[in-house]
Amino acid sequence: MSAVDTSGWSFDTLAVRAGQERSQFGEHSEALYLTSSFVFENAAQAAARFSGAEPGNVLRPLHQPDRQRHADAAGGAGRRRGCIATATGMAAILSTVMALMQSGEHIVASRSIFGATQQLFGAILPRFGVDTTFVERGAVEAFRAAMRPTTKLVFIETPSNPLTEVFDIAALAEVAHAAGALLVVDNCFCTPALQRPLELGADLVIHSATKYLDGQGRVLGGAVCGARTLTEEVFKFLRTAGPTLSAFNAWVILKGLETLSVRMQAQSANALQLAQWLEDRPQVARVYYPGLVSHPQHALASRQQASGGAILSFEVKGDRAAAWRVVDNCRLLSITANLGDTKTTITHPASTTHGRITAEARAASGIGENLLRIAVGLESPMDLQADLARGLG
Ligand SMILES: *Cc1c(COP(=O)(O)O)cnc(C)c1O
Repeated sequence: MSAVDTSGWSFDTLAVRAGQERSQFGEHSEALYLTSSFVFENAAQAAARFSGAEPGNVLRPLHQPDRQRHADAAGGAGRRRGCIATATGMAAILSTVMALMQSGEHIVASRSIFGATQQLFGAILPRFGVDTTFVERGAVEAFRAAMRPTTKLVFIETPSNPLTEVFDIAALAEVAHAAGALLVVDNCFCTPALQRPLELGADLVIHSATKYLDGQGRVLGGAVCGARTLTEEVFKFLRTAGPTLSAFNAWVILKGLETLSVRMQAQSANALQLAQWLEDRPQVARVYYPGLVSHPQHALASRQQASGGAILSFEVKGDRAAAWRVVDNCRLLSITANLGDTKTTITHPASTTHGRITAEARAASGIGENLLRIAVGLESPMDLQADLARGLG
């Protein structure tokens, strides 16, 4: 196998080609190595591999070719950045916290983050002495006011789920750094194809590969990318604690990454078209999509994102019954909470993804009973419109 110099390649090229290695057979599509360990030629080689003196594979959970390729491609290899593959997106978030934080330290997080992340920060980490202050709305000053001397991480998701609130990555990086903290950005919605938080000053980026990196709803996976000094700490935690990515999932995600950029562009274009159509419906009270000029943070989104992304939400006029009528009349859109698929999905957040959090927390996040979220896929926007029109009445 020979390594390729990828240092001059752009992201689009890396997504297709990074981590490309060939075995002695010269296969064009990357091979999948289903093996739980690797053999050494002799005792000296085993010792050298274990000590790190010689690069190469030791044990599959640590050094699996497919996993490293996925990580290289997701992170943009050869840019003095590290990228560590994890079993899921949540494993990426948990591993980051466990690797970088001590008991007694503090997190400042936006309130509008993934439901499981809210549960992790709000209900589980306090048992280990790590407290979180949730900032209810996105103003930079609200984050600054929440900082404490013990704050270690500022954690945001932008655009947020499901209301597509946009956070100013560069400004929040300054707030975090001024207080000696790190900015962590969950980049699940945009992926590196549309938004590069590390280039805007973030210290670490979280990916759920379960979503757009695979892009076809097949496997679970995640990644943590950033400066090597930080990702090496995350790697040490993973090596010990075990939430590593399976070889098969890594290989599937690697195939998904090859089409990531074109999928994100096409799905974003479909989302914009659908958002504009929804905005013109008399039965729709409000549409949330950063690509719309009417979005309150459209200018900020245009600065830090290449496009609006593929996720939108909207409020129907009426209550839960009106929202459920739209869902129940869908024949084309899939009724599922997953997102990031080539197949368009529709969700009623208040009774599903955000059903576990308290009604007060939901209200504080602005998630009403009449809200629906759509993760737009690759079908014709005309067919999506016809499907929604039926339930809108
Ligand atoms: C799905 C999701 C996660 C968690 O990813 P899993 O791979 O499902 O664990 C984290 N953040 C966001 C924004 C997500 O949508």
